[in-house]
Amino acid sequence: MRVRGNLLNLILMGLPGAGKGTQAEKINEKYNIPHISTGDMFRLAIKEGTDLGKKAKEYMDQGELVPDEVTIGIVKERLSKADCKEGFLLDGFPRTIAQAEALQDLLSDLNQSIDYVLHVDVPKEKLVERLTGRRICPTCGATYHVLYNPPKVEGICDNDGSKLIQREDDQAETVKNRLAVNIKQTQPLLDFYEDKGYLVSVNGDQDIDQVFEDIQNKIDK
Ligand SMILES: [Zn+2]
Repeated sequence: MRVRGNLLNLILMGLPGAGKGTQAEKINEKYNIPHISTGDMFRLAIKEGTDLGKKAKEYMDQGELVPDEVTIGIVKERLSKADCKEGFLLDGFPRTIAQAEALQDLLSDLNQSIDYVLHVDVPKEKLVERLTGRRICPTCGATYHVLYNPPKVEGICDNDGSKLIQREDDQAETVKNRLAVNIKQTQPLLDFYEDKGYLVSVNGDQDIDQVFEDIQNKIDK
């Protein structure tokens, strides 16, 4: 059983459409640890004008990838902030094995370690179903989902009767390609954390509340 006041250091992993964002919010509320996404972390460092933030901005302004040493420095700054005193939930970092190894070193410098790498696991076919179901009204911008939030009349906007469209990003081929790229990137990381004994997979192909209950059961165990 987890005792309040103990650190809870988590990494959240999952493919696009797996529902990571929703679970991150719930974890943040229940365990009082900040949800740290890579994008937010960069934005904060840039806003605060730290040396590393300035460096990161130079690369980003030139449309270049921020090098690992800068990214890791920014992670270190972020994890040292007061709101991480009960732990953290990292989302979107690490992305590569080199980053994962650097994170191990960084945490060991801070006298800490990872508790769990939570993997919200949803079969690829289900993700395709989720990610291709979105429909948008070109007139009022309302969004629907053919399975989870269908309009009253199929293909027609409830508000104004316009014919709904599917964005190119949401079309099957695009979605499948995006997933394939993501799977190729994340599989080595899942293997890395599995070897270290941190990996905990949760079935993401169920009701949102049920997924969170499974997460809590793993954490509180
Ligand atoms: Zn509309």
